[in-house]
Amino acid sequence: MGKAKRLNVDGLSNKKKLVSLSASDIRSEKRIRPGKRNNHIILASHSNLKYKEMLPIDWGAKLPAARGPVVASLTNSKVRNAIGAHSGSYTVYRAMSIASGKFPSQHKPDLNNTQSPVQIGPFPSWSDPTRIVSLDPWGLDPGVNFKNYLDEGYDIRPTIAVTQAHLQIGEIKDSIEAGRLKVDGKIVLANHDVRVTKVAIEPVWFLPGMAKRLGVDEGDLRRILFQETGGMYPEFITRPDLKVWLPPIGSTTVYIFGDAKNLANPKIELTARVHDECNGSDVFGSDICTCRPYLMYGIEDAARTAQKGGVGLIAYYRKEGRALGEVTKFLVYNARKRQEGGDTAATYFHRTECVAGTEDARFQEFMPDILHFFGIKKIHNLHSMSNMKYDAIVGSGIEVVNRISIPDNLIPKDAQVEMEAKKAAGYFTVAPVKSEGALKKVKGRQIDE
Ligand SMILES: [Zn+2]
Repeated sequence: MGKAKRLNVDGLSNKKKLVSLSASDIRSEKRIRPGKRNNHIILASHSNLKYKEMLPIDWGAKLPAARGPVVASLTNSKVRNAIGAHSGSYTVYRAMSIASGKFPSQHKPDLNNTQSPVQIGPFPSWSDPTRIVSLDPWGLDPGVNFKNYLDEGYDIRPTIAVTQAHLQIGEIKDSIEAGRLKVDGKIVLANHDVRVTKVAIEPVWFLPGMAKRLGVDEGDLRRILFQETGGMYPEFITRPDLKVWLPPIGSTTVYIFGDAKNLANPKIELTARVHDECNGSDVFGSDICTCRPYLMYGIEDAARTAQKGGVGLIAYYRKEGRALGEVTKFLVYNARKRQEGGDTAATYFHRTECVAGTEDARFQEFMPDILHFFGIKKIHNLHSMSNMKYDAIVGSGIEVVNRISIPDNLIPKDAQVEMEAKKAAGYFTVAPVKSEGALKKVKGRQIDE
């Protein structure tokens, strides 16, 4: 060989339309750095890929050594004991970076000094195979939990990271200036910064536990996941021995106000908000919903509770647009505003269902896993009006004392449509619920306003 192969690019024999390529030409382009993995493709559709080096996972085992680490790194395919790859949706960006030659595919992270600055767990919930199924509690500081395996050369990556920060938020500064939140030098500093511990948690899904919680057969769940991801993960079908999947979705971030270890003490007052991402409102201040004002009220109250000797927690889930995505969400906004009679509270949920096929795809069944990671047994003040969230939290064994709805004066005018529709649909409120006739009169702006 070594001779140039002539490839006819469009079926014509015109010499100008022919390109010449040889294997050495392709190598010399060096667009893809030749790591070991790049030269050898293993199709996941083969079912004989179980290697003796693969460590077993005993989900719910009491100690990390018995549970076994989740190994999903790609530096040694023989030891992988999970489906998917680390970093959730960022996996795709990493692949693009490797393809462009900017990122070494065989890189192993140096985890020196990356460990959590505060102690979190272990809690009894970590070793309950039904309590936590959508994250890996032992993915926090694997350098401590799985030191012996790391020393043996296993490439075990953290899926949870903890750090400390200061928040600088306009609404919080306003609440300090209004006297609702005081400077104490510990939680709220003299320059109006708010001190927090923040925790990033990547999804690690234990498929048998997830199937059980959804009340479906594991085989059916695996088949539907395979089909609905366009066949992205053949191991759902070919490798029933692999029980853990790292899905390509966003992570969850938790902000803790006060001492993190107090979250697990039911005697210490806990104020918590479980918030689903709404980029338009949370970040950009779009006024069609109450997401940012409710989030800010939650942060203010969480900080205030911490100042009283309690603890506050804001869990932020990447479930944009009721987990239907922002494109669907914006289509729904237009459909709401263009319908006959305009955008009214009476038809709020209906228009979402028309566009998306469902009112809501968030599956709050797995949301409380995050709370169980922190050993939470009791929430004294729950900032959420959602019954789906409340039912999931209480159903998972956490006691809720008070439910706190958003104060009326924080609801933007255009968001009255959402708020009245939710109250009428049974969301938690202490305010009176409007009649069907009155709901028709709660109107949002026109599409061109
Ligand atoms: Zn929103």
